[in-house]
Amino acid sequence: MSISIETVIALLEREVAGFAVPVVDLIAVQTGDPYRVLVATILSARTKDGVTAKAAERLFKKAPNLDSLACLSEQQLEKLIFPVGFYKNKARYLSRLPEDLAAMFGGRIPDTVEDLTELPGVGRKTANLVVAVAFGKPAICVDTHVHRIMNIWGYVETKNPFETEMALRQRLPKKYWIRINSILVAFGQEICRPVRPHCDRCVIGEQCPKFGVTARKKGKGQKAKGKYQIAKVKGED
Ligand code: SF4
Repeated sequence: MSISIETVIALLEREVAGFAVPVVDLIAVQTGDPYRVLVATILSARTKDGVTAKAAERLFKKAPNLDSLACLSEQQLEKLIFPVGFYKNKARYLSRLPEDLAAMFGGRIPDTVEDLTELPGVGRKTANLVVAVAFGKPAICVDTHVHRIMNIWGYVETKNPFETEMALRQRLPKKYWIRINSILVAFGQEICRPVRPHCDRCVIGEQCPKFGVTARKKGKGQKAKGKYQIAKVKGED
């Protein structure tokens, strides 16, 4: 059984329209500012959206642009962005960002994945998201949700997010590149969750081959909270 990507994306776009918008997309829509998108994307790694949103708000009050970011010390940055995941590393990257951008790119935020990944603390996921949502250029941000769900659908058969990105670059129609991350993050947080996906109320339940998803067994003396569980997808964090 193979899915029709056109059909499932059309169904999912309608489904997630009422779900919470991923924080980085929200900042991109609200500000259209590559600096804010880059900083928010760095903050969002391994961090829940609600925590990222509050940290970004505190930080942007003090540092609305690169010049003001350069005036903050690493310790001040740590305090402002705590409790995002790996806040000490992220504060170090952010404190170096204005200087690194000045030295490497004349003080502008680069708009290619290759250039962005030259910056400390910026991996392919961050770079693709910045290129896609800040600059509106075709790029596929493959995070844990995109990697996991694409493998569940059997649309790709890959071991890690990098392989998934490369496979999607070959297969996914370009018109979906920019928005696929936003759709699958929202869908992955609400319905196709990493543990106990809500297959029983999934709008694409009939089309989905559910590769790696097994019906959940009730343990002795234990109440099953959901009907399905997902076998760990290779390459997930
Ligand atoms: S049917 Fe289940 S496994 Fe498939 S996309 Fe929906 S929630 Fe995920």
